[in-house]
Amino acid sequence: MNRPLLEVKNLSKHFVVKQGFMGGKKAVLHAVHDISFQVAEGEAFGIVGESGCGKSTAGRSLLRLAEPSAGQVLYQGENIVDFDANRLRALRREIQIIFQDPYASLNPRMTIGQTLAEPMLLHGVATRANVKEKIEGALLEVGLPAQAMQKYPHEFSGGQRQRVGIARALSLNPKLIVADEPVSALDVSIQAQVLLLMEDLQRKRGLSFVFISHDLGVVRHFCDNVAVMYLGRIVEKGGVDTLFEDPLHPYTQALRAASPVPDPGNRITVAKIEGDIASPLNPPTGCHFHPRCPKAMDVCKREYPVLRQIEGREVACHLYPRTPA
Ligand code: SF4
Repeated sequence: MNRPLLEVKNLSKHFVVKQGFMGGKKAVLHAVHDISFQVAEGEAFGIVGESGCGKSTAGRSLLRLAEPSAGQVLYQGENIVDFDANRLRALRREIQIIFQDPYASLNPRMTIGQTLAEPMLLHGVATRANVKEKIEGALLEVGLPAQAMQKYPHEFSGGQRQRVGIARALSLNPKLIVADEPVSALDVSIQAQVLLLMEDLQRKRGLSFVFISHDLGVVRHFCDNVAVMYLGRIVEKGGVDTLFEDPLHPYTQALRAASPVPDPGNRITVAKIEGDIASPLNPPTGCHFHPRCPKAMDVCKREYPVLRQIEGREVACHLYPRTPA
């Protein structure tokens, strides 16, 4: 088997936070706990879960926008966690990020041309002589006219701004893109267009993606494999069709039931997962999902289930392996 482009091994990210009156008490928030996964060249790997499950922190830790507390992030076999500032800067050319809110990540005082030119010149992807031509090419590739380079972010719609965000990420010819909820702020019909664009770019450029979303339906549309996260841990991981068609973990089952389809003609009822996700500062004992789980047993309150290989995927749940009837 070929070496994966990205290999995440036992990655954790903890934050020490101050609590209580005057912030005198300290507590540890386990935002990401001991997660492992691989991304092959040309693969789109999804990380899915509700808000607060740690998926965005996991994505930021991959780029060291949040420094990992433990574990390894191997990119082409080298551990990014050990990189010094120079190597990290060079790596940022190969791994790019697309944010949920492109408006917040674009400088409102810079034209789109200036926004795209800056990283290209900084990383030597373009020269003063050819930067305009390169920007035009980047804009056309994401379906925007060349004149867009003279405009400011506020002059675009949400979908167009996300196209600018994608153009900026692509402008350095990366191999891997971490896309953090790239379509969740957009209308459903625009979501489908942006997903199709990303799919097209992935195919043409052979890009790899770590695609972070709260929506299993969107992940299914775009990804090959997926990890489902709950309160900082992976609870189920495997092929996206396997998890979508036959989810084993009750949380994946709930996400599946709650997942709308990104097609304006398809109106399915959106179910709601009962209860709220607990605070990662004070996670429930045993399986963290037990207060919300319709299948919880006594053991679930006492012991955290280990992630193990069951029926062609990995799952962390005391229901498996299924006991014979
Ligand atoms: Fe539900 Fe228990 Fe499985 Fe947790 S371990 S998901 S509480 S059945």
